[in-house]
Amino acid sequence: MSPTPAPPLRIEALSYRYPNGHRAIENLDLALSPGIVGLLGPNGAGKSTLMRILATLARPSTGRVLWNGVDIALTPDAVRAELGYLPQDFGVYTALSAAEFLRFLAAVKGLPAATIAERVDECLALVGLAEVRERRLGDFSGGMRQRVGIAQALLNDPKLLIVDEPTVGLDPEERLRFRHLLTDLAGERLVILSTHIVSDIEASASAIAVMAQGQLRFYGDIEHLVAQAQGKVWDWTIAAELLAAARAGHHVSSSRRVPGGVQLRIVSETRPSADSEPAMPDLEDAYVCLLAQDKTR
Ligand code: ADP
Repeated sequence: MSPTPAPPLRIEALSYRYPNGHRAIENLDLALSPGIVGLLGPNGAGKSTLMRILATLARPSTGRVLWNGVDIALTPDAVRAELGYLPQDFGVYTALSAAEFLRFLAAVKGLPAATIAERVDECLALVGLAEVRERRLGDFSGGMRQRVGIAQALLNDPKLLIVDEPTVGLDPEERLRFRHLLTDLAGERLVILSTHIVSDIEASASAIAVMAQGQLRFYGDIEHLVAQAQGKVWDWTIAAELLAAARAGHHVSSSRRVPGGVQLRIVSETRPSADSEPAMPDLEDAYVCLLAQDKTR
């Protein structure tokens, strides 16, 4: 058996402080191997800040990030050559066609001129936009624009693909399509997908990192996180008028209408009520459970 290769991305004792003194990341350690890593956390957790540091757009305040052993703050060009990044606020030139826009970005990124036309066609095909390559981006849906965003991130065939909250604003069908696309692209790459929506990563991530308040709360596989919530999840059906009180007093991970009331998923160390039943945790429950520990610290 060949030995497991060392993780190409290592984050060591990383902290980041904004100029106004706000500590967005505190003492983060993480080693990531190829596959899809879901970076999950509530708004304000520090995900985008981390993505920007990995994309060499911000430098760590302390600590370091190594890409194949090279410190990315000291030698950013080494990771940049192998990096694709789809930022949260990715904008397109609406007057250009998809192909024109990608050719423009390929030139900006310094791809050899002779390879640009072919590589643009390959990337458009990869994201399923070959048919509409000559259409103006102004006429594209949100999901199609996000796919253009992925296409531009793929131009240099990156080994590290960083995608920040890519499903915000997409409708359910587009979300699903986008998830499938990322799964297809993973392969030998390391894809880091940040999101605050559990279902974005449930089916596709090989590992999951959870951040809250600038700190890493969990890293591992989904099954491991779900196992942590075992014995702490309850189904409880209540009358609809009691919903507000139940929400105020418990960590509710989901709710659905049922005949005669509302069925709640409660995350709690102890049984919330004599008429509640133990339930099998899913990833959403486990995530709520992890963040609930956070709130009661
Ligand atoms: P996330 O992507 O998880 O929503 P961010 O990385 O955007 O989180 O933000 C982490 C924290 O840093 C938040 O508390 C946010 O308010 C703060 N923050 C983000 N950008 C700045 C900035 N330019 N200056 C000061 N604080 C910032």
